[in-house]
Amino acid sequence: MAGEYKKPLPVPSEDSGPFWEACRRHELCLQRCEACGRFRFPPAILCPECHSLAFQWAPVSGRGKVWSFVVFHRAYHPGFAEELPYTVAWIELEEGARVISNVVGCRPDEVRCDMSVEVGFEDVTPEVTLPKFRPRG
Ligand SMILES: [Zn+2]
Repeated sequence: MAGEYKKPLPVPSEDSGPFWEACRRHELCLQRCEACGRFRFPPAILCPECHSLAFQWAPVSGRGKVWSFVVFHRAYHPGFAEELPYTVAWIELEEGARVISNVVGCRPDEVRCDMSVEVGFEDVTPEVTLPKFRPRG
């Protein structure tokens, strides 16, 4: 049965599947290179820093800061029309990796670069949970 959710949903791939499975458990997990120790996002087969194929999925704190962001005032997909305006941001996690997400829990005009944020999880369908960031402190 089709749900109420009107926006596009992520389609987990072989690389990104464990990321989305962790989100369903309300955990933020990223790939961590076993050679150089760096966390990376988006999921990929090899480390963009040292090109090692060795990695493990590891939990991260979910804390970080806004590195850059844009505010959408126009819906490029009808599913987003009710949410305008909304914020899409690069979040730089304490572990160093940057993830792309929404900043929620404040107005778009309150979002600033370097603002402290932390992850929360939105169960949008029975199968899909999205990580979103909100102001911290
Ligand atoms: Zn590496």
